[in-house]
Amino acid sequence: MKVLVATSNAGKIREIREILEGASLSIVTPAEVGVSCEVVEDGQTFEENALKKARAWVQAAGLPALADDSGLCVEALGGEPGVHSARWAGPRATDADNCRLLLKRLHGVAKRRARFVCVMALVLPDGRELVASGTCHGHITEQPRGENGFGYDPVFLDPVTGRTFAQLSPQEKNARSHRRQALKALQQMIHEAFPKGTSG
Ligand code: IMP
Repeated sequence: MKVLVATSNAGKIREIREILEGASLSIVTPAEVGVSCEVVEDGQTFEENALKKARAWVQAAGLPALADDSGLCVEALGGEPGVHSARWAGPRATDADNCRLLLKRLHGVAKRRARFVCVMALVLPDGRELVASGTCHGHITEQPRGENGFGYDPVFLDPVTGRTFAQLSPQEKNARSHRRQALKALQQMIHEAFPKGTSG
């Protein structure tokens, strides 16, 4: 089955190709099929946004489409920034702006539990939909640490390694990330729904 990955983010495309290797899928990108599509991510949940993106790309390309939505949920902030993670500090916010705002909002707060969440949605032209999610639990640090990764990685402490995600190598982060977990869960669902040799 040919699947369009509904993103132009090269890092995500590489990760998705790697993880889905061996499944009965051939991954194509919007650039490869010459299709573009603008989707406003205004859903209240990661699932709504991922499904909205995947459905729009199915319409645009006529191919099964895989889309994701992800973000950081901080317990002491009632789950914020959540679906607003990317532009939390404002419409032109940089990753550093978002991290600064987070540390400011958590100034003097002792309970700093947080989780990264990723939802992956696969939508087929016949209307069938598969949705899987992945979560990484951790804590928000007092100061940013590390240079790798992106987004909130410098302030997200991984309790297993005692390092922030920005202090992990890309391989270390990818091995445990919420994105990896969501893709693995989706891969399992795909295997069950479309055994090798079936076209779906
Ligand atoms: P999107 O799924 O590409 O829309 O990402 C939403 C936002 O959530 C990103 O811009 C980051 O701010 C944040 N985010 C999602 N995943 C990660 C991650 O793995 N590390 C750090 N920040 C992340």
